[in-house]
Amino acid sequence: METGGSLAHTIRKPTLTPKAIIHQKFGSKASYKVEEVEEPTQNGCPGLAILQKGPCLYRCSLELPDFSVVSGSFKKKKDAEQSAAQMALEKLGIRPSVDNLTAEEAWTDLIARVKYIFSNEFLSGLHPLSSHFKAALCRVGDHDGSIPASVIAICDGKLNNLCKIINPKVESHPFLVVSYIMRAATGLPELVVNPERQLSIRKKNPYPTDVIESSVSQQSESVTTMAIYIPCSPERAVEPVTLNISPKGYYLDVIAQKLGLSGANEILISRTIGKASSETRFYFAASKSYLLEMSSDLLNAKAVKFGEPLNARASYICGQDIYGDSILASIGYTWKGQDLFHEYVTLQSYYRMLISKIPGGAYKLSREAILAAELPPTFTTKTNWRGSYPREILCSFCRQHWLLEPVFSTSSIPKKASLELSRLNKKLKVSESAEQKVEYANGHDTVDADAKSVGMGSSFICEVKLYSKCQDLILECVSNVLYKKQNDAVQNASLKVLSWLNAYFKDINMPLEKLKQLANVFDIKFYPQNFSKEVVSCRSVENFQHHETLGDKVPESNGINILNDVAEDDVSSIDIEGPDSGVCPSNGSLLCVCYSASLVTKGKLQKELLESAEEFEFEMGTGAVIPCLEAVVTKMSVGQSTCFYTELPPQALVLAAAKDSANALAFLSSPCCLEFSIILLRVTEPPEDRMEQALFSPPLSKQRVEYALQHIKDSCATSLVDFGCGSGSLLESLLDYPTSLETIVGVDLSKKSLSRAAKVLHSKLTMMSDPDAPCRSIKSAVLYDGSITDFDSRLCGFDLGTCLEVIEHMEEDQACLFGDVVLSYFRPKILIVSTPNYEYNVILQRSNLTSQEDDPEEKIHSQSCKFRNHDHKFEWTREQFNHWASELAVRHNYSVEFSGVGGSADLEPGFASQIAVFRRVFQPKEDDLQDDEGLACQYRVVWEWNRSKPALTN
Ligand code: SAH
Ligand code: MG
Repeated sequence: METGGSLAHTIRKPTLTPKAIIHQKFGSKASYKVEEVEEPTQNGCPGLAILQKGPCLYRCSLELPDFSVVSGSFKKKKDAEQSAAQMALEKLGIRPSVDNLTAEEAWTDLIARVKYIFSNEFLSGLHPLSSHFKAALCRVGDHDGSIPASVIAICDGKLNNLCKIINPKVESHPFLVVSYIMRAATGLPELVVNPERQLSIRKKNPYPTDVIESSVSQQSESVTTMAIYIPCSPERAVEPVTLNISPKGYYLDVIAQKLGLSGANEILISRTIGKASSETRFYFAASKSYLLEMSSDLLNAKAVKFGEPLNARASYICGQDIYGDSILASIGYTWKGQDLFHEYVTLQSYYRMLISKIPGGAYKLSREAILAAELPPTFTTKTNWRGSYPREILCSFCRQHWLLEPVFSTSSIPKKASLELSRLNKKLKVSESAEQKVEYANGHDTVDADAKSVGMGSSFICEVKLYSKCQDLILECVSNVLYKKQNDAVQNASLKVLSWLNAYFKDINMPLEKLKQLANVFDIKFYPQNFSKEVVSCRSVENFQHHETLGDKVPESNGINILNDVAEDDVSSIDIEGPDSGVCPSNGSLLCVCYSASLVTKGKLQKELLESAEEFEFEMGTGAVIPCLEAVVTKMSVGQSTCFYTELPPQALVLAAAKDSANALAFLSSPCCLEFSIILLRVTEPPEDRMEQALFSPPLSKQRVEYALQHIKDSCATSLVDFGCGSGSLLESLLDYPTSLETIVGVDLSKKSLSRAAKVLHSKLTMMSDPDAPCRSIKSAVLYDGSITDFDSRLCGFDLGTCLEVIEHMEEDQACLFGDVVLSYFRPKILIVSTPNYEYNVILQRSNLTSQEDDPEEKIHSQSCKFRNHDHKFEWTREQFNHWASELAVRHNYSVEFSGVGGSADLEPGFASQIAVFRRVFQPKEDDLQDDEGLACQYRVVWEWNRSKPALTN
C-alpha cells in the first residue's frame, strides 16, 4: 500500500515516509543531493557544502530515472530530503495520505481527476499523458483527439490509487481501472464517451487554438522500432514485428493494426515489465464482452471477463492476465520529454525475459554468460562468487513471481552452544534423511557441521521463508550449517532455496515425491499446495519451452565428437593446443578464460557466433559453469587453448544468447551443435596456497618435504610410497637429495595430476642419469592410478609411506577406511600422515588480513573461508586428529607420535600442518602375514621407470 505521513504534522500513525516510498520504488536509482542554501559553493560541487559548519538552511535535489525535483529550504537536512521525496511522489501521482479516503470520496476525486486531465491546463503541462493528448490531436481520421481509456489508466498513478480505494480488487485486476475511468467520464458533460462501442474519451469542445499551438509541437520524423508478436496459441511461434509510426500517426494505432484491430481504442495495455522506468508493456485486444462490462455495477465490479483465451506466454512474463494475441513493445511517452520514447524489443530480449524468471537463468544473465555459466549449487566465498549474489537473485525471483519479499532471519549462536547444536542437528539429520543424503550428497552439503562450528566467537544460522502475496507460506529453509559470518549464512540459505527452485524448473514434471526428497537435501520444507498455486502459470509455459528443446543429435560420423558426458575418458580425447606451462587449475582456484560459443551445422560448414567473452572468471570445482567446460579446463594449463562440441541447450537459451535471432533460428532448423573455443588465461591459486605462502618461509609444502626427508635419512629407507601423490611434488623434491631410496611409488586417482607427475619425474630422472646426480640411488619409480582405500599387493612391505595433505580431501569415513587399509594390509614400517590443523586457521586468516589490508574484498573473503581449500571435506582440530590416529594405531599394532610443521607444538594453537608418524611395532613373522593377502592388482600403472631400461608406458 502506498501510504505515508505528511511531512510537518503526521496525524495518523506514521506508516511510510515519502523517502521510504521512493526507496521502495526506485532503490539506489533515487539519488539525493543536499545543498546548503545560504552559501552556494563556488566549485559546483554542492555535496561538499554539507560538511561546512554553522547554522544554515538546506535544500535537497532528488534525481529519479525520469525526472528530478528540488525541495524548498529547511533547517534540517532530513526534512529537505523528505520534502523532495514528497514532491516526487506528487509528481508521480502517488498520494501518501490517500488511504484516509472513503470509497465515495475516492469516487468523487476520481471524477475530478478525469475532469482535470481533460483541461486546457493539463494539456500544456508536463505529464506523459499530455504527450498522448498532443499525439492524439495530430492523429488524422475519425479518432482525432480521442484518448484510449487504457492509456489514461497506465499513465496516471493518482487515478490508479483512487481506483484501488474504490475497489481493492483493482490491485489484482488492474484492467478494472479502465472501466472506472470510462464510468467517471460518462458523468462529465464536457466529455464524449461511448462505452458501449469503444474505450475512448474525447473532449466535447476542441481545445482553444492558442492552447493547441503553444503545446503541440509536431513530431517531424517517423519512428521505426522492433516489437514482438506473441500469439495466443502456444503452437504458433513468437515473432518479431516492425512498428512504423509516421509523423502524423499515433503509435497505439500502429500497434492496434498489427493486432488486427481498427485502432487504439480497442487496445488494452499491461503494466510495465522489468525495471521501474521501463516502458516495456504488453498490448492486446479488449474483447467485446469487456465493453459490455462497462454498464454493470462498477463500484462492486469483481473482475473483467475476457472472451479470448489466456495468452500463457504473455501472462507468464507479465504476471498479469493477458488475453488473445499480444504485442510486446517498449514504446511510449515518459516524464523525460515530449518525444516518443522507444527501444527495440527483439526475440533475444523476449527470451531473456523468459529465462530471467528461473534462478539459473537469472544467474546466467547476471554473468552475461547464458551458454557457459551455471548457478553453482554451493556458495563458497564472496570473493570467489561471480555474478549476482544468491540473496539478490532470490529477491528478484520473488518479485518476478509476484511473491512477497523473502523473509530472512539469522540467529547468532555462541561458540559452545553452537557446537552442541550442530551435534544435535547432525543426529537429527542422519536419522531423518540418511538415505537421501547419500543419494544427493555432493560433498558440500554433508560437510561435518561440527568441524565448521569450531572457531572463535559465535556462529550464524539463517532461515528463509517465502510467502505468496496472500501471506501463505510457500517454503522455508532452515539449514543446520553454521557460518562464521552472518552474510555467508544468508547467502547460503538463499542459494539452497534457489538451487531447489532451479532443479524444479529444469524438470517441471518432477513427481512430488522426488521434489520432496530434493527439498530435504536442501534443508527445505515446502507446502505443495501453496507452491503449485504460485507456479501454476509457469507450468504451461515452461512445459512448452521444454517441447522446444531440440532433440536432434548430430551423428558422430560427421567428424564432430560431442561431449555429452563429463567422464574423464570422454574429455581425454580432446585436443589441447599450446605448450604445457604447468600452471593448471585445481578445485577452489579462480580461473579466467577467453571463450566463444557458436552454433555449427553438420560438417562444420556454417558457424554463427552466439556468445563470447574476452575474460570470464569462475571458481573451479563448484559447478559455476556447464559441466563440459569445467571438465575440459581441468585438462588445460595456462596459455593453452582448445575447442570442443556439445549438444544444443534448450532453444530458449540459444535465442536468449543470439544477437541475430533470425540467423540462429535458421541454424536451429537443421541439425547442429554448439562449439566452444577456450583459452585458459589465468589461474589464481586457492586461498590455502596464498595463505601458506604469505606466512611461512620456507613454504609449508617445502617444510613437509623436509620433514619426510628427515625420516628417510633416519630410517635408511630404501622404498617409499606416496599415497595421494598428486602431481608428484614430494617425489620430485626427493630426487634433489642424496638418500638411500631405491624404489619410489606414487598413487593417486586424479589422472590429470598423475600425468603431470609422470612428466616431471620422467624428465628429472632421465636428466639426472649421470652418476653424480643426487638421486643416483633410485632404481625404479612407478605411478599408479587407484584409490588409496583399495588394496594392491604391489604396495606391501614398503619401508616408508607418506600421505601428505590428502585425507582431508576424502570424506571422513573414507579417511578412516584408508587408515585401516594402509595399516592392516600395506603395513609400511613407517607411515607419515599430515593434515591441516583446523585451529590454526584463525592465524592464517589473520595474517591474510594484515598482508592484504589494501583489499577490503579480500578481508571479507578470508574471514568467511572456513576451510583452507574449497576441496577439503573436513579439517580436524588437534584433538580430533589425535583421537583418530591413536585409535588407528592401537587397532593395528603401531605406535604413533605427533608432530607438525609451521608454528610450534608448545604455542597455541599448535602446528599449522599436523603430522602423525606411525611405526610398526615389531612382530615376529610379520613378513609372513603379508603373503596371506595374496596377489591383488587393483591399481593401473600409469608410468614406470627403471634405471636399466628407462621407458614410458601409458
Ligand atoms: N600429497 C600431495 C597432494 C595433496 S592434494 C601434496 O602434498 O602435494 C590431495 C591429493 O589427494 C589429490 O591429488 C587427490 O587426487 C588425492 N586423493 C584424494 N582422494 C584420494 C583417494 N581416495 N585415492 C588416491 N588419491 C586421492
Ligand atoms: Mg589439502
